[in-house]
Amino acid sequence: MRLTDHEYNRLLLLKKLRAHEPVSRTDLIGLTGLTGGTITAITAQLLAQGLIIEERSPDRGTGRPRMDLRLNPRDRYVIGTTLTAEGKLLTQIVNLRGECIESHVDEMPPATRFADLAANVARALAGVLEKSGVQRGAIYRAGVGLPGVVDHHRGVVTYIASFESGAFPFAAAVESALGIPTLVDNNTNLLARAEYWFGAGGLSDDFTLLAVDLGIGAALYKSGQLVTGAHGIEAEFGHIKIVPDAGRACHCGGAGCLQTYCSISAVIEQYCLREGVEMPGILSMRGFFRELMVRYAAGDRTIESLLMEACRYLGIAVANHITMQDPETIVVLGPDLPNFPALRSAFASSLSRSVYPSLRRRTRVHFRVKDDQNYARGAVALALERVFAER
Ligand SMILES: [Zn+2]
Repeated sequence: MRLTDHEYNRLLLLKKLRAHEPVSRTDLIGLTGLTGGTITAITAQLLAQGLIIEERSPDRGTGRPRMDLRLNPRDRYVIGTTLTAEGKLLTQIVNLRGECIESHVDEMPPATRFADLAANVARALAGVLEKSGVQRGAIYRAGVGLPGVVDHHRGVVTYIASFESGAFPFAAAVESALGIPTLVDNNTNLLARAEYWFGAGGLSDDFTLLAVDLGIGAALYKSGQLVTGAHGIEAEFGHIKIVPDAGRACHCGGAGCLQTYCSISAVIEQYCLREGVEMPGILSMRGFFRELMVRYAAGDRTIESLLMEACRYLGIAVANHITMQDPETIVVLGPDLPNFPALRSAFASSLSRSVYPSLRRRTRVHFRVKDDQNYARGAVALALERVFAER
């Protein structure tokens, strides 16, 4: 979905204001590069809509009073929620500054129909709102994250593992049950939104997020906007082909996909094959992986070779991405791994060998341990981003 020039300028102004508040209108000229006239027009609209407030404060240079602008910290909120692959619903209510005023975890009842899931999500959000005491009229937007394939632009979900097949207008269903304008997105995109809006160190406007989990997902920010494809779908980075001939079979029906070599489930599957152990069910996989990491820390060579192989393949895949896209930064979110320096070194030498020489060592790569609360932060960021652009 392309923003109009007005929406883009408004989003830019509010993002700069959030990062630097309190600021004067003159400060905003330097921070945004917009003209004084544009800033006056946008701030008048934001004041009228209650998104920002004006307050008198002494000028830091002259001591004379000046009018500063801040985001309205009271009376206006967004709500965000994410369904995890384990069936938990993580919800937050935040004010326009992104400060959390309510956080809640629900266990979702089992469902296989999208309509039932949408009704359950709307019911859970209504419960969190009631608990918080925030009136529905004070919530500008709801953001919902799902662990599946989502057309973010149309608010339609087309795939979640173990659910019925077919397209379902998920955002519209939640919105009609809840009475709050609702947006929906894929969970990996939410992790990128969380990094951009709430991540440590203030990411640049151009970065790629890779999430290494049971599968592998990717999301790209360009010029401060999340990039989605022509069909609103996020990059299926886990299914790029890394071993074209005689590659491992993937659940997508293809072979040689990246995530059959360097995801948590790939490491577990290969370990079980080599050791003759029964493969755990999906809900037990993370616990099983933690046990494997204890054995790896104790010197298990089988697990070490599987992790090293995973890091080498990830290095090649990231090198291909850098060669194609030249991002400023890549953030890799993954599980907590023991002996991490040795693994990072295997990744780095594989990347260095595989990337186009002129781009070598230009892109910064950060590794972070994945925190499930980032999904809820991403869901509120999805809602905040829309409020900032168009209310
Ligand atoms: Zn695949």
